[in-house]
Amino acid sequence: MTLRLPAHLSIRNGHLVTGKHDLVDLAERYGTPLYVINEDHIVSNFERFQSALASYYPGVQILYAAKANGNLAVLRALARKGAGADVFSSGELTLALRAGMKPERLLFNGTSKSTDDLRLAVESGVRVSIDSIDELNQLSKIASEAKKTVPIAFRVNPALEVPTHPKIATGLATTKFGIPAGEIIAAYAAARDAPYVIPVGMHCHIGSQILDVEPFARAAAVMADLAGEVTALGVTLEFIDLGGGLGVPYHRETDVAPTPEEYAAAVMPVFVEGMMKHGISPQLWVEPGRWLLAESTVLLTRVNSVKRAFKTFANVDAGFNLLLRPAMYDSWHEVIMANKADQPGEEKVTVAGPICETGDIIAEDRLLPEPVAGDLIAILDTGAYGYAMASQYNGRPRSPEVMVKGDHAELVRRGETIDDLCATMLIPSWQQE
Ligand SMILES: *Cc1c(COP(=O)(O)O)cnc(C)c1O
Repeated sequence: MTLRLPAHLSIRNGHLVTGKHDLVDLAERYGTPLYVINEDHIVSNFERFQSALASYYPGVQILYAAKANGNLAVLRALARKGAGADVFSSGELTLALRAGMKPERLLFNGTSKSTDDLRLAVESGVRVSIDSIDELNQLSKIASEAKKTVPIAFRVNPALEVPTHPKIATGLATTKFGIPAGEIIAAYAAARDAPYVIPVGMHCHIGSQILDVEPFARAAAVMADLAGEVTALGVTLEFIDLGGGLGVPYHRETDVAPTPEEYAAAVMPVFVEGMMKHGISPQLWVEPGRWLLAESTVLLTRVNSVKRAFKTFANVDAGFNLLLRPAMYDSWHEVIMANKADQPGEEKVTVAGPICETGDIIAEDRLLPEPVAGDLIAILDTGAYGYAMASQYNGRPRSPEVMVKGDHAELVRRGETIDDLCATMLIPSWQQE
């Protein structure tokens, strides 16, 4: 096997291991399907990302994109290192606060915030990224009623083409995200004059799973230019937020993914030069989600049965109910037979989930050791947009999540039961007699 494994994974006695923990043992102890998150890997990714940027510029703040995995234990691991968060809903906002993140390190993003969302933003003292002038006016009204000032940024749409899957390219002129760069100055002028809102930041996010650093450098240049214009209006920018989006090498044999050091080398000189040109020194905020989380986690799934038909199908107990990415984005995830991790691939196997849909295929035609019922398959790089996008589709309770750190391994989310499926349902009165 020529796979380059993430740093926390190794092979011991034929088993796949994360840190000090044998994944075959964890699957036996907690059952399958099972997400296993390695906290040490997340923390070391965080530290590496931060120091890559901080070597160019003093005021760097990382805001973890909470939607990648909103588990309190993940948020808390990052909060303890000083991370803030990019949050996209009242739910994510509340989770980040409960995990101990400071409100001044939270940016409440979103194209469609409700009145309740805006009220919570005002009450909790977070920064709000505004996505339209309509939203600015609503927020100003709510803040005025509460007599509480609210610090804001605008989400800029820099109109950049980005090489990634169309469903996760967010910086194109045609997407629903942000205010067109050409209208941004008018937006800041409106904010400057609106009661109880203070423009303090500028925000963009150009997309996700980007494997080329050049678009990030272009976005930094656009943002630096706009920062100069906004400063000339009399606005004092306390932060410029360049968003997230750095990709990871899901195709572990062939993908070449930029490192945080390469990202920093492309982006930071452009950013720093722009700040010097305009004589300003705002904090630099960045919002990685995937890069911090993806590699930290494996999804363990048990083979229920093997069928040799048109293809060899290994029918496993996790499908797109637990890992939507292959079905939604045609994503690739490496799969390893965790209980036969030192055996060579012998047979092309299609790993198929238990959901009643043709599209419920986790991995197609992969060379694996000959599968039999009871084998354990590890799906790699599932820490970002894995559990976070899980559902109860087909009447399937969601799996538990286990976190490991050093010698420790503990549940950080219990698995749902079939009773949990019914827990929020109500029988209408007319059916009750
Ligand atoms: C999703 C998102 C991110 C994180 O993107 P990644 O590709 O996971 O790094 C950052 N900022 C915003 C506003 C987002 O919507």
